[in-house]
Amino acid sequence: MSSTDAAGAVLEIDLEAIAANWRLLRERHKSGPVAGVVKADGYGLGARLVAPCLHAAGCRHFFVAHLDEALAISPLLPDAMLAVLNGLLPGTEADYAARGIIPVLGSLDEVARWAAQARSAGQALPALLHVDTGMSRLGLDARELAVLAEEPGRLDGIAMRFVMTHLVSSEVADDALNPAQLARFAQACGRLPPAPRSLANSSGIFLGAAYGSDLARPGAALYGINPTPGRANPMRGTVRLRARVLQVREIAAGETVGYNATWRATRPSRIATAGLGYADGFLRSLSGRGAAFFDGEPVPLVGRVSMDLTTYDVTRHPAVGPGSWLEIIGPHCPLDRLAEEAGTNGYEILTSLGSRYARIALGR
Ligand SMILES: *Cc1c(COP(=O)(O)O)cnc(C)c1O
Repeated sequence: MSSTDAAGAVLEIDLEAIAANWRLLRERHKSGPVAGVVKADGYGLGARLVAPCLHAAGCRHFFVAHLDEALAISPLLPDAMLAVLNGLLPGTEADYAARGIIPVLGSLDEVARWAAQARSAGQALPALLHVDTGMSRLGLDARELAVLAEEPGRLDGIAMRFVMTHLVSSEVADDALNPAQLARFAQACGRLPPAPRSLANSSGIFLGAAYGSDLARPGAALYGINPTPGRANPMRGTVRLRARVLQVREIAAGETVGYNATWRATRPSRIATAGLGYADGFLRSLSGRGAAFFDGEPVPLVGRVSMDLTTYDVTRHPAVGPGSWLEIIGPHCPLDRLAEEAGTNGYEILTSLGSRYARIALGR
């Protein structure tokens, strides 16, 4: 028995497509290198798969959200910059320094603690500096920036690899916030000691050359999420999710399917029950919405998505039987469409992908 026979659903991760997506972004971003953002376990695909694949493609700058995410992949990424976006928690300074992980400093307090760490180490320590230009989550605010501009000595001992900011609405190409943030970022950098700059996330790379910087930081687009919503997706799909049909049952007109009987057959119907549910990250908000595909044909999802099971109307597909595979994400069911049907974005779909799936890496 193989693991794919034992699991209700199989997730295939196409590493060659991820590498191709990185190369495409590198071609688009002419002003400087392109990092790989592999936070949240590589957007749910597995950072230990994705990060070495990007490294092999030539990527030498990586971002995660937390220190423990960095520690888990750091040995796989020789001669690369590995930075932690969420900043420097008190008490972790020595761990960063010992393991060569680079903090993204987002407040004067973090700057002070990293400078103190450098003093006690007796050597300069690398860091990125995050300035807030509109997100109001992390990064130096205007008041803190003004202090740093007045007292640049606070950065003594810190080897500034990049000054960075994060775009608020980059996927909305005509949003006035984009040029406003561009201007605020240029102004902020002008007040700080000269250093390379890092600006664009995935969608930012597609906003035009003005949004180019010394380091782009894409995540989503690497994994096939469309960085240009409303326009054709320039990226390759990287995941294929298939689920097993466990049973097919015949129901009469008037019978209902699933919890709370939200779907009622208007004709004699064949219902296929597949082995995935919201415990696998197949969101409950998909109840009664969209379709899986069988043999390239849509089979509508009917009734509530339950914890481990989802039901499909296969009345028009006599070939579907126990053991058949339904395509849940793939060439016929792109990630972004599933996200729309679920009322969310591709980021949430990917980062919710379940740990129960049998996972297969292609192109290794
Ligand atoms: C997550 C993140 C990114 C990557 O954004 P995508 O939209 O996935 O490309 C870049 N920069 C920061 C600060 C982030 O938090």
